[in-house]
Amino acid sequence: MALSNLAYRDYEVWAPDILKSIQYQLYGSFKNYMGSLVFGTEPRRWFAETWVPLKTLRIYGNGSMKGSRVAPVVLDFKKNVIRLRQVCGDEPRYTVELPMPEWVIDRIREGADVKFAMIGLRDNKPYLALVAERVVEPYQPSGYVLAVDVNSWKYGIAWGLIKNGKLITWRTEKPDTFLINTLYHQTMDRERKVGKLKTLGYSGSARVDKIKEQTQARRSKIYRITRDKAYFLASKLVKKALKYKALLIIDDMTEESRRELLEEGLPRDVIKLLMSNLKRFVHQLETLAQWYGVPYELKRLYSKKCPVCEHELTQLPGRIMVCSNCGFKAPRDLVPIYWAMKLYSSTEEQLYHKE
Ligand SMILES: [Zn+2]
Repeated sequence: MALSNLAYRDYEVWAPDILKSIQYQLYGSFKNYMGSLVFGTEPRRWFAETWVPLKTLRIYGNGSMKGSRVAPVVLDFKKNVIRLRQVCGDEPRYTVELPMPEWVIDRIREGADVKFAMIGLRDNKPYLALVAERVVEPYQPSGYVLAVDVNSWKYGIAWGLIKNGKLITWRTEKPDTFLINTLYHQTMDRERKVGKLKTLGYSGSARVDKIKEQTQARRSKIYRITRDKAYFLASKLVKKALKYKALLIIDDMTEESRRELLEEGLPRDVIKLLMSNLKRFVHQLETLAQWYGVPYELKRLYSKKCPVCEHELTQLPGRIMVCSNCGFKAPRDLVPIYWAMKLYSSTEEQLYHKE
């Protein structure tokens, strides 16, 4: 990946032992080997283990073309196929045709361009990764603000849509924590069973292997649940921001949430599961915001400080926060949203409309 990056940034990266015709078509300039960067003493292995950027030719529905006519990767949007020319076989007209993935068609429709593709091995099989790029100017926010507060999955991700200092809608979103909990306890039961069987001298047995397999399957399932939720929510929130032309405010307070769970006395591996894929969520939210031109800011929004008078808040049962100084009272997950209202609206007294 590092070498591909260098090549992409127009450094010359000399890959010895690759077909000359391919070598000349690598993204970047490879025409002059003298003074080039030379990598690897075992070129074949180097090629196998490194992702190589290849130039592309794009043929659009109206017949227009972009890119190099002799590029090894042809993206044909007339027939919706990808043709690899001479990449997979050392003969002049050797071509492999692949179906065009649906997402590429969608990205092109959104105005993106696929200037290069990366070829390499994934799980020991040849893999072609298309890299879509898009340059967009973020829109001018319409006055709406979408504040997103990232907690642990236990309490979920809270978001609030604000306009002129008023809260239009808000919600907390989380995966099926009951299912996560059930799966977690099933893994614990199985681990205990394995432990018991081992002390009885059955460590290498088929039965132990079977139980271990079941444990692993449940762990991956929990991971998949939070990962899918992360992707789903990032997409949902970016769509919402687009719909209202809102300014997106992201508060990544996962560290604070981790501490809250620790204070609650939850076991460390449960906390780990409840925090899994939250970094991925924030990353995906930022990536999508950039892609669709949604203006966004990462901003610290407090949950323990009063958004009216900045006094320290006290937590009551049921995660209700109260201010002993001014009487402000709100569910804990909503406090950061009130902070966003305070920070991103012109008239502060509107904050009192809360109840
Ligand atoms: Zn207060």
